[in-house]
Amino acid sequence: MIKPIIQSFYQRISQQKNRLGNIFQPRAVVLLYHRINEFRPDPQLICTSPAHFEQHLKIIQEYYHPISLAQLGEGIQNKDLPRNSVVITFDDGFADNLWNAAPLLEKFGIPATIFVTSGFIDQPAEMISDVLEHILLGMDTPLKTLEIQVNDKMIRWNLDDPSPRPATWNVQSGSDPNLRQRCYREIHRLMRSLQPEERQNILSQLFVWANCTEKYRPERRIMNSEELRNISRSGLIEIGAHTISHPMLAKQSSSLQQQEISGSREQLEKILGHRVTSFAYPYGGSDAVDARTIGYVKAAGFRIACDNVPGTVGYRTDLFGLPRSLVRDWDNKTFYKQLKYAFLK
Ligand SMILES: [Zn+2]
Repeated sequence: MIKPIIQSFYQRISQQKNRLGNIFQPRAVVLLYHRINEFRPDPQLICTSPAHFEQHLKIIQEYYHPISLAQLGEGIQNKDLPRNSVVITFDDGFADNLWNAAPLLEKFGIPATIFVTSGFIDQPAEMISDVLEHILLGMDTPLKTLEIQVNDKMIRWNLDDPSPRPATWNVQSGSDPNLRQRCYREIHRLMRSLQPEERQNILSQLFVWANCTEKYRPERRIMNSEELRNISRSGLIEIGAHTISHPMLAKQSSSLQQQEISGSREQLEKILGHRVTSFAYPYGGSDAVDARTIGYVKAAGFRIACDNVPGTVGYRTDLFGLPRSLVRDWDNKTFYKQLKYAFLK
């Protein structure tokens, strides 16, 4: 009789100890930036101004322990993470990371990883969200109706709307004051899960519809080969892969997933002349990644892969599903509060 009672008592104590152990284990937060710039409108909320980015770095340096993504990976494997570790990452590989972020990272001596969409390197092209912003929100096109053929279906939008298009509008705004904003929201959502070829087809139709000859704005581009070599030279900034054309991987065929994952690594390694071992899933989250995706990332030889869902990193975190906290254009007080909050998730 006594024996089972004692066993259950010890069991409860050890469960409690495990729970407390988890709470007191060192945690890390991986931050996710995109652009260090002041573009408006910023419908996807991916621009952080250089002034705000500098304030963020000051706070990280003063109150946290900045480490590289590779150090985070080693720390998880060796169960040896410094307390309050913060890792900085950037997605897509925009040229302003070189122009505006790298000088500040160097000033503070804080490491970062930039995940580059390799198909845009050395190309006169913008990422899809920029093209849509340019044509639907930025330009005044004469045609008031937009018709786009998607696969075998024709989709039509009425854009006859004289209402103003506030520059502060973004996809998180509760309403769309102008029909063009609604159209932007719908086309962006629709294109996310399509195949790269079909997305290119839609962009071509949009360029023709808008009679747009200016196919890209240089200040919006992805870094070129020379710039990628330069930015990674100091050793403070690591280049990681982010597929070739930025598709939602889980919605693609197995062969396309494989090609996008391994191909981006091969392209980057050819440019940089060294191994590329980190990967970030485009879009991230449960819709964007499936078991095949993770399998192909592992098979391609990557050692670590970042998601786009918030959360803290601890010793039990899966190295192929690292959570990341998105950073917006926050001033120093908001960033301080948000980072504190990120460690509680
Ligand atoms: Zn991305």
